[in-house]
Amino acid sequence: MPDETDAELFRHHMQYLAAHFTVLPLPVAVDQLRRGALPRLAAVITFDDGYASNYTVARPILQGFGFSASFFVATGLLGNGQMFNDTVIESIRRCPYTHLDLTALGIGQYELIDTPRRVAAISTLIGRLKYLPMPERSETARRIAELAGGGLSTRLMMNPDEVAQLHRDGMDVGCHTVNHPILANLSAEAARSEIDGSFAFIRELTGKKPVSFAYPNGRPGRDYHAEHVEMVRRAGFELAVSTATRGASPSDDLYQLPRIGIWSATDWKITANLASIYLQ
Ligand SMILES: [Zn+2]
Repeated sequence: MPDETDAELFRHHMQYLAAHFTVLPLPVAVDQLRRGALPRLAAVITFDDGYASNYTVARPILQGFGFSASFFVATGLLGNGQMFNDTVIESIRRCPYTHLDLTALGIGQYELIDTPRRVAAISTLIGRLKYLPMPERSETARRIAELAGGGLSTRLMMNPDEVAQLHRDGMDVGCHTVNHPILANLSAEAARSEIDGSFAFIRELTGKKPVSFAYPNGRPGRDYHAEHVEMVRRAGFELAVSTATRGASPSDDLYQLPRIGIWSATDWKITANLASIYLQ
């Protein structure tokens, strides 16, 4: 959730980048990488999924530093959509019960008497749902929300107008499929439709062909395969990023660029992660 602490930490990260790195828009960095002209300490900032906090929290801070970032949005979730994992997180977080019986869904029972047990339940449930076929995954998440007391949640994702504004701001608006499925779990036809559908949506919204794509979950050989890389290329994207964790090098496939994830990054962690880029 966007709150002051997160904004402060994010601003701190940006200060760190500004002090030590040349921060470039992703398409510019990739062009320089391809030409062997990338500065040694170059960094690119990316956001996946299309969370509302990207707009409300990160955008003004990025603008304050004059940084251009990439935003990979799951186009079908914009507005009132919700990622299945957020449905699980919000359901368990807000659940008024201390015991939740999900045996009707075949996914066990959970004690929710304190925060550590709620966190553990969330982690277990997300692990169980993540690789389910997508309609079943969404339906199971919806049933969990129902059985957990189903309180209304606040809007978590950006709406299309906000995404269009990011584009007008000069940010790189890229695609992350329509519904955020694990591509490797889909038929070829369904995977192509997820990739092409997100491309068409962003082109329509911004009036410009999107350049970049991020594979949902993004682990090479597990969450997507060579056929999906080819689909992304054919759709018209010029580059794509995975979640393989390392810095990029000139020998990298431009349709499978690695990234270094900054999760709940403490100072030492972001420093260590970024240091690992230029020690390679
Ligand atoms: Zn994602």
